[in-house]
Amino acid sequence: MPISGSVIVKKLPGRKGCKECGFPTCFAFAMKLASGGAKPDKCPYLTSETIAALEDALAPPIKLVQIGAGENAVQIGNEEVIYRHEKTFVHPPGIALLISDKESETKVEEKIKKINELQFPWIGLTLKANLLAPYFESGDRNKFTALVKKIYESTNLGMVLISEDMDALFSARDICADRYPLLYPVTKENLGAAIPKIKEKPTPVGVRGESIEELVPLTTKLKDAGIEEVILAPGSKNLREAIRDQTFIRRAALKQNFRPLGYPTIAFPCFLAKDGLKEIMAASLFIIKYPGIIVLSDFDQYSLLPLLVQRLNIYTDPRFPMAVEEKYYEVLEPDEYSPILVTSNWALTYFLVSSAIEAAKVPSFLCVKDTEGLGVVTAWGAGKFGGDTVGAFIKKCGIADRAKYKKLVIPGKVARIKGELEDALPGWEIAVGPREATEIGGFLPEFTRKLKA
Ligand code: SF4
Repeated sequence: MPISGSVIVKKLPGRKGCKECGFPTCFAFAMKLASGGAKPDKCPYLTSETIAALEDALAPPIKLVQIGAGENAVQIGNEEVIYRHEKTFVHPPGIALLISDKESETKVEEKIKKINELQFPWIGLTLKANLLAPYFESGDRNKFTALVKKIYESTNLGMVLISEDMDALFSARDICADRYPLLYPVTKENLGAAIPKIKEKPTPVGVRGESIEELVPLTTKLKDAGIEEVILAPGSKNLREAIRDQTFIRRAALKQNFRPLGYPTIAFPCFLAKDGLKEIMAASLFIIKYPGIIVLSDFDQYSLLPLLVQRLNIYTDPRFPMAVEEKYYEVLEPDEYSPILVTSNWALTYFLVSSAIEAAKVPSFLCVKDTEGLGVVTAWGAGKFGGDTVGAFIKKCGIADRAKYKKLVIPGKVARIKGELEDALPGWEIAVGPREATEIGGFLPEFTRKLKA
């Protein structure tokens, strides 16, 4: 854990009332430093050594590293807990698709097309894989750089460049340096030669050791050389070792604040498992513990979607229910004669109801009331989905200007709010809909037919 304000204040000069840092006292400045709201160099009386020591002590225990650029950048690290239920996991792992330069042109194109096209809309989000990992396997440097060039020109994704051949690795880096690729692997054998080349065009580097112990001197030397955009690969030989190593690194960084291991990690189910199903199962374990990047040899919609949903669930903050924005949604391009339904803003409720409307093929308006992410019945019990609150929302959401018929369908489970809602919405007729979203398909077509008749 970074140090507290009461520890920091002992390192400050204690000049009473000088305020040159912008804060009334050293103690106020120390508290701001501890919360990450100020930088130590704001105090002009600190020595450069003290500033460096404070910056080091205040740095997050696992460094934040970015791969890729622009809207496709993947940020990993900066995690604060071992177990997700302690607080939350913050930066979801990037899922990378391996492309070997030994694969046929057709296969390469198929994989690029796949990662571009396999995107899944999911409760207001788009779930997708994030990175491509060109792999130098052919022994022909020209083939590898041609592959990297092709990927660079046909996608905007970040890359994990994998090559044991340093010349090929840095030639490939030069093609896509502006895309901020991860260079892998830096090892004890190539570290000395790699450092000056990395510094020419700084991008993140993946450090590989035969063991966790071997990583420590490598990251220390890189840090001494001013290279801190680092990702760790502990050289695990099988899945059991991999989970052990990932857990050890996370614990060393968070519990011991051991800086040489305070970096995000990468895992390679593509090399650990030969069988496609086992590879996906390994990836599923890695989503829980703990790599920042997971490299797969291949996937399709049936293996990728479950991984993406799992990743979404694990990296959703458990302290806050998933919720969608309060407003009226248009499902299947409704017109002014379409039915109007209302529900709560728990994301799952919204997803189920809107999907049921789509399945019924009846264009509709779906008014979603903010219930702080609670389901309809719980929200009613908490006073967030009563006749008065729903009525106030319907008046202000603007649906009255959009729709011709003032007839609102409420969920059957809260039929009891009908009278109160009629009082709150003069001029509206209130209809009680089905109790379950699964019954919407049987309800909505007939309701709409009567409405229009
Ligand atoms: S500038 Fe330095 S000495 Fe002055 S109040 Fe701020 S922290 Fe204290």
